[in-house]
Amino acid sequence: MTVIPHFIGGRRWEGTSGRLAPVFNPATGDISGEVALGGADDVRRAIEAAKAAAPAWAATTPLKRARVLNRFLRLLEDNIDSLAAAITAEHGKILSDARGEVQRGLEVVEFATAAPHLLKGEITENVAGGVDSYATRQPLGIVAGITPFNFPAMVPMWMFPVALAAGNCFILKPSERVPSAALILAELLSEAGLPDGVFSIVNGDHVAVDALLEAPEIKAISFVGSTPVARYVYETATRQGKRCQALGGAKNHMVVMPDADIEQVADALIGAAYGSAGERCMAISVAVPVGQETADRLVEALAPRVRALRIGNGRDNSMEMGPLITAAHRDRVMSYITAGVDQGAALVVDGRRFAAEAGPGFFVGGTLFDHVTPDMSIYQEEIFGPVLSVVRAADFEEAVRLIAGHPFANGTSIYTRDGDAAREFAHRIEVGMVGVNIPIPVPMAFHSFGGWKASLFGDHHMHGMEGVRFYTRLKTVTARWPRSIRAGAEFVMPTLA
Ligand code: NAD
Repeated sequence: MTVIPHFIGGRRWEGTSGRLAPVFNPATGDISGEVALGGADDVRRAIEAAKAAAPAWAATTPLKRARVLNRFLRLLEDNIDSLAAAITAEHGKILSDARGEVQRGLEVVEFATAAPHLLKGEITENVAGGVDSYATRQPLGIVAGITPFNFPAMVPMWMFPVALAAGNCFILKPSERVPSAALILAELLSEAGLPDGVFSIVNGDHVAVDALLEAPEIKAISFVGSTPVARYVYETATRQGKRCQALGGAKNHMVVMPDADIEQVADALIGAAYGSAGERCMAISVAVPVGQETADRLVEALAPRVRALRIGNGRDNSMEMGPLITAAHRDRVMSYITAGVDQGAALVVDGRRFAAEAGPGFFVGGTLFDHVTPDMSIYQEEIFGPVLSVVRAADFEEAVRLIAGHPFANGTSIYTRDGDAAREFAHRIEVGMVGVNIPIPVPMAFHSFGGWKASLFGDHHMHGMEGVRFYTRLKTVTARWPRSIRAGAEFVMPTLA
C-alpha cells in the first residue's frame, strides 16, 4: 500500500508516529493509499526546519521572493492536469471542476507575485517640522494553515502564496482525506527554488492540529473547515496569543425575484447546488423564490434538470457530478433526506434511489425539496451534499428576514432584473459575499474571501489585501535627523541658547 508522507525540510518524510489512515477513491470505494498521521514530533521537525530557514527567507528581498513564486506559477500551469487528476482521484469531483479549482488557486499565486508592490509601506513627509513617519509590514515568522477536504489545492493556495510572499515560513496540515495534491504543490515549490524548510507539510488529524496550536513558535493560524472545528481552532489559537482566521460552514441562499428569467435561474442553480456534489462552502443549498407563482415555475424548471444530472466517476469527461467524500458522509446526507421527508418537506427528486443503484462508490443522486420551512433540520444545518431546498417567501422582505435569521452567512445571491431590488439586497444583507445574478460569488484573488457570523471567526478574510495584512505586522517609524554636516563647519563657540 502506498504511504503518502509528510514533506519537511525540502523532502518527503515518512514520520515517526506510526499512525496511518486510509485514503479512498470515492468513485469506486477502493482504498488508494494510506496517509501518515503526524504527531507532535513531526510538527516539531517542521518547526525546526522553518526556524532554520526563517531568517534568510525574511531577509530575501520581496522581488526575489516574487521571482520564486513566478517560477512556481509557471510550474503550476505546466502541471495543472496532474494536480487535477490527484484531486479527482481522492475527492471525486469531475476533472474539469478540479482544473477550475487549481486555476482559482493559481490566481492567488499570481496576486502574490506582486510582493514588492503589496509590501510597499506608507510615508508621510513632515508630520512635524523635519519629522517623517513611515509604516512598513514585516513578516510574522512561522505561520500554519489547516485545510478541509473539499478544495485540496485551492484552499491551501488561498493561504501560503501570500504568507510566503510576505516573508513567512508556512506549515500546512492538509485534510487527511485528500493529501496528494498538497504534496505535488510542495514539490513544485521546491522545484521553483523555494529554500528548504520555508514550506512544509505535516499530514494528519486533530493530533497534528493540536500540536500546531500549542507550538509557541507558530504566530498565526489560518483555518478552513466546519464551524465547530473553526470555533475550537480560533478559541485555542487566540488563547495561546496567536493570530487566527478560521473560516467555517455555510448555508447559502439564492433569492429569486418574480422578474428573474426562470430558465437562466434554473441553469445557474443546477451548477451552484449540485456542482462538486454540493461539497462547496459557496454552494447554493437554499433557493428562495419570491411569490407562489415564481416558486411553482422554478420547481417545474428545476425538477427535470435534477433528474437528468449525469452522475459518475469524475474521470469520465461526460459526467456533471461525482461522489461524496466518504461512505459515512454519504450516509449522513441520506439521513438528512429522510429527516426532510419525516419533517414534512415535499421531496420532488429523491437522490437516495441513485445511491442504492450506484455500486460501491459513495454516490447520492441530486435531491430537490420544495415547501421547506425554517424549523426543519434540512434548512437549519449544513448538509454538504447534492440537496437543494426550496423555501418559499411571500415577498422581498420575508426573503431578507429569512437570511438574516440564519446563523451561517458565507455567501448569498439574488436573481432579478430590477437594479433597485438588487442594490437594496446587496446593501442590507448580513452576509460576507454577495452575488447579483451570479450564483457563486467567490471573490477574485485580488479581493478577499470570507463570510460573516458562524462562517468566519477572526477579523481577516483570506487572500487579497486582507491576506497581506493577516500575514504581516505593521511597524510605524517616526524619524527626525539632527542637523547634519550639510550645515557646514561651525567656527563660533557653541552655546545652548
Ligand atoms: P473539518 O472541519 O472536518 O476538517 C477541516 C480540517 O480540520 C481538516 O484538516 C481536519 O483534519 C481538521 N480537523 C477535523 N476535526 C478536528 C478536530 N476535532 N480538531 C482539530 N482539527 C480537526 O471540515 P471538512 O469536512 O474537511 O470540510 C468541510 C467543511 O469545510 C464544511 O463545513 C464546509 O462548509 C467548510 N468549508 C468552508 C469554507 C469557507 O470558506 N468558509 C471553504 C471550504 C470548506
